[in-house]
Amino acid sequence: RFIAFEGGEGAGKSTQAKLLADALRSRGISVDVTREPGGTAGAEAIRHLLLHPPGEEGDAGWGARAEALLFAAARADHVERRIRPAMDNGTWVVCDRFVDSSRAYQGGAGGLGDEAITALHNFGSRGLRPDLTILLEVDPDQVEERLAIRDGDEVDAIGGRSSEYHRNVAACFNALAKADPKGFAVIDGSGDADAVHAEVLKALEPLFES
Ligand code: C5P
Repeated sequence: RFIAFEGGEGAGKSTQAKLLADALRSRGISVDVTREPGGTAGAEAIRHLLLHPPGEEGDAGWGARAEALLFAAARADHVERRIRPAMDNGTWVVCDRFVDSSRAYQGGAGGLGDEAITALHNFGSRGLRPDLTILLEVDPDQVEERLAIRDGDEVDAIGGRSSEYHRNVAACFNALAKADPKGFAVIDGSGDADAVHAEVLKALEPLFES
């Protein structure tokens, strides 16, 4: 089984991924919890390039297409070397972000379009989809509060993106979920971590039964 968490920064994805992994393990399920961009040595190296673009002040930063390719390349390595082997082994994979982040950020808010991102994903990662994608939605004002208390280092580490861009990302995630109600569970991420976790477990019930 393969479960992905999606949502903007500060939605609680990594906290919920860890809580879910613990809950699954306590049911005797073998779990690999991982994140994107990253999750393998190669993909973590690409993550570093994305978050710390080479180049001089003012000339730093990737163009939209190069950025999309780097995310797709990181994902390809992650899928081939970690996610697929774990799944083949009967291990459940819980991933903090997956291709729908690329669809919402680079495809939607970044303007490249869904077709281009899907084509890259079909090539790089053979079109792998999670069994279930859990979208955590949080009110933008609450996100700002959460991010203000988070360690600054990786908060919108891809610098210079406006709050309008982030609102756009949120709207894109919501549209992706609406278009695929079977593939997504949309959960209000604004409650405390335990309350959100309970909702996540509820959304997973059908996967335990099948
Ligand atoms: O989720 P995490 O905080 O690890 O993401 C790192 C950075 O990469 C964030 O600034 C996030 O907005 C950005 N990102 C992105 N496009 C993606 C995935 C993440 O711009 N497809």
